[in-house]
Amino acid sequence: MRRKALRVAARAVEERINADRSDHVGPVFPCACGKPARFCGRRTKTFESVLGPLAISRAYYHCGACAVGFCPRDHTLGLADGSLSPGVLRMVGHVGALVSFQEGQELLRDLAGVDLSIKHVERAAEKLGREIAADEKNIVEPPLPNGVLPETLYLGLDGTGIPMRAEELEGRSGKQSDGTSKTREVKLVTVWSAEKRDAEGIPIRDEGSVTYSAAIESATQLDTDVVPSAFATRVQREATRRGFAHAKRRAWLGDGAKWIWNIADEQAPDAIQIVDRFHVNERLSNTGKAIYGHGSDLEKRWTHERCTELKAGKIDDVLAALAVHAGIKEARQCSEYIQTNRLRMRYGEFHAAGLCTSTALVESGCKYAIGKRLKQGGMFWTVSGGNAIIALRCCRISGRFEDFWERRAKRAA
Ligand SMILES: [Zn+2]
Repeated sequence: MRRKALRVAARAVEERINADRSDHVGPVFPCACGKPARFCGRRTKTFESVLGPLAISRAYYHCGACAVGFCPRDHTLGLADGSLSPGVLRMVGHVGALVSFQEGQELLRDLAGVDLSIKHVERAAEKLGREIAADEKNIVEPPLPNGVLPETLYLGLDGTGIPMRAEELEGRSGKQSDGTSKTREVKLVTVWSAEKRDAEGIPIRDEGSVTYSAAIESATQLDTDVVPSAFATRVQREATRRGFAHAKRRAWLGDGAKWIWNIADEQAPDAIQIVDRFHVNERLSNTGKAIYGHGSDLEKRWTHERCTELKAGKIDDVLAALAVHAGIKEARQCSEYIQTNRLRMRYGEFHAAGLCTSTALVESGCKYAIGKRLKQGGMFWTVSGGNAIIALRCCRISGRFEDFWERRAKRAA
């Protein structure tokens, strides 16, 4: 029933647009290059719209100087870059950000009656993602000066590998037994607030306060480099957009990776540096397994005791317990890790100050923002395609999708 009604509506729209020939403005039309383009008759093209396919007739002009043809109507109708109407492209953006291209193709067909091939969904979503990635670089205004910033802002950095196509990995070394790699690292910056408290008074992340920005890009910084790395610049943009520098209190979270603290020292030297406690717990758990064997009661008790000491900020107790097993490599490495980062593990002090130190905030950010969409079975990415979908997803899940479409519509006008 609905399908039929849509088809009727589509024919009506088609007839109305095609009856209007005002897009033929005369024998010439000014090309973007400034030279006149010549009218070469009308051409019909089928566009995929929310009502279904629309065959639209348009006046076609050709510029000899540029050797390109164009239809002014495509621009006025917002159809200039492809065969999808803005409404359908927006739908493709939603599904491409959230689910696989195949699931997206099915959702578009079943929910909206829009019938595109999987490849078409993929191409359109990636093209849109590239547009969003470019747009993101230009939108770095701080929040409105009269807006209320939360008392404390948290900024977290993390990295996660996504599976890549073989040709994208040639010559790259990695963790496979033969020294090759199957993945490339996506680096993520996430900003949030946690002003709310649970029943026990522990800070919990404020719903809707989380934003994400990520890409497969370098965070490597040499002393001789005059410009910050691509990822450091991304962190700067996200921090600016969130007014990170203006929050009364700033906390910077990460695992122990050195690049994370290098960027923190550089960009926010007065932010409180905190190793996400989730990562330390994980290290302690793996160490417990190495000492007592997987799944033994001793292992569980040992790990539980160390994590409890850690949470209370009793770092010396943890180190003393590790020293007992100094003969085991994992225990030595864990001890080194804690000693290197111990100033970032003053959890007793942090908790007393009302700061959150973990619930795997950053880690789950990576899982949600990246893993859930880009690490499903059978997915293999190119750098370009992966970065496009990452940009699309981060925009969508950070609540920035509508703003993007507003800017896009303004630009087209
Ligand atoms: Zn031209």
